[in-house]
Amino acid sequence: MKTIIEPFRIKTTEPIKLRTRDERAEALKAAMNNVFLLDAEDCSIDLLTDSGTGAMSTRQWAAMMMGDESYAGSRSWKTFEKTVREITGIKHVLPTHQGRAAEAILAATLLRKGDIVPNNSHFDTTRANIEFQGAIALNLLCADGLDTEKEAHFKGNMDIDKLKTCLEEHGSEKIPFCMVTVTNNTGGGQPVSMENIRQIKQVVSAYDIPLVIDACRFAENAYFIHENEPGYGDKSLLEIAREMFSYGDAATMSCKKDGMSNIGGFLICNDDKWAEQFRNLLILREGFPTYGGLAGRDLEAIAIGLMEALEYDYQVYRHATVTYLYDRLIELGVPVVRPAGGHAVFLDAGKFLPHVPSDQYPGIGIVNSLYIEGGVRGVEIGSVMFAQKDENGDEIPSPLELVRLAFPRRVYTQSHFDYLIEIITEAWQHREQIPGYRITYQPEFLRHFTCHFEEI
Ligand SMILES: *Cc1c(COP(=O)(O)O)cnc(C)c1O
Repeated sequence: MKTIIEPFRIKTTEPIKLRTRDERAEALKAAMNNVFLLDAEDCSIDLLTDSGTGAMSTRQWAAMMMGDESYAGSRSWKTFEKTVREITGIKHVLPTHQGRAAEAILAATLLRKGDIVPNNSHFDTTRANIEFQGAIALNLLCADGLDTEKEAHFKGNMDIDKLKTCLEEHGSEKIPFCMVTVTNNTGGGQPVSMENIRQIKQVVSAYDIPLVIDACRFAENAYFIHENEPGYGDKSLLEIAREMFSYGDAATMSCKKDGMSNIGGFLICNDDKWAEQFRNLLILREGFPTYGGLAGRDLEAIAIGLMEALEYDYQVYRHATVTYLYDRLIELGVPVVRPAGGHAVFLDAGKFLPHVPSDQYPGIGIVNSLYIEGGVRGVEIGSVMFAQKDENGDEIPSPLELVRLAFPRRVYTQSHFDYLIEIITEAWQHREQIPGYRITYQPEFLRHFTCHFEEI
């Protein structure tokens, strides 16, 4: 059997509005050429993010009806706690409304000004929460991870030598904890090997520094380990996940990713003292420790979603959708980041539009062209999002100009992807006509969400 099918039947449908090209051009103009400002209804295939955009299963929907909405000690909480413990083996479980709330509690409790937190690559909310405490978020990604052309299995790995140097230099005084992000979202969803996680744990343990896992895509990472790391082909994804978490002293999670739910998160840890401190802040910010920021029905849906993410057939299908698009783009000669990540395909906008310089934002050119061609919404990950300013206030472009097409879980079928490939092909064939853009309005922070663009 070579054909991988979606391992589900569809019981509920949600209509997609099909706009004409003229309507899309009109909508983009009204959105000041920034797809973040479009109405979702005007997007036929929405690949803005895989966060909270997935479809729930019949079991999840059924469980929601069983949600126990008691303020304290609800049955739904017990189910949630038991499931998180079963997967992670970690003692204390604190539910939060999403991942960044877990990060905020972690950072506010443990970090002081000038502290350093190493990670393979910090996700942007993780970085923001660390920097908000006056601490430094340090990326120690391996060299392969920075090379978009190199084909390697575990490009999310941390550079162990760099970690050793960092610890030698700063020691446990300045480093309250170390993190590892699985899979590496900012680095294209590239996985981290078990060996690397084990080594990180070994290195930090010598300094008594705890390891915190950013576990948002733990199940996708477990799948990559199962497929590509020697010694893991016979293990279940649950066993692999358990081993990954066995090296962690704590973890943060966004259940909008591998929790297969539309909202939710958690913070977990083994240390009793940490747990007490986290709980105090949780009560202040999120809610009573047996519901955090969530309804009982959310806790039920997440408990099931976490286990569904670990089903092997689901991960085979999930990965097949990503590689299906990826392989065809390679065949067409469209420049993409190699290899395919866990949750997204990245177009290399710099190579796609060599005639558009960084300061005219080639990523925006492609994103807008995909929208006009076919109502596809992707996102620029390049100089609009990440440019720095030099001392004269001039922009230093981002080292990479990318467009991310992120895959919602269990939402789109193969024909949607065939359509997507057609739209990208169309853009690729007319790439010389795709213009650059200039920014006509921008806010002070996080400009990509709300800035306005004008075609050059
Ligand atoms: C999404 C994400 C977060 C933050 O979670 P939210 O639920 O969006 O707050 C943190 N880390 C990584 C790696 C993520 O992908």
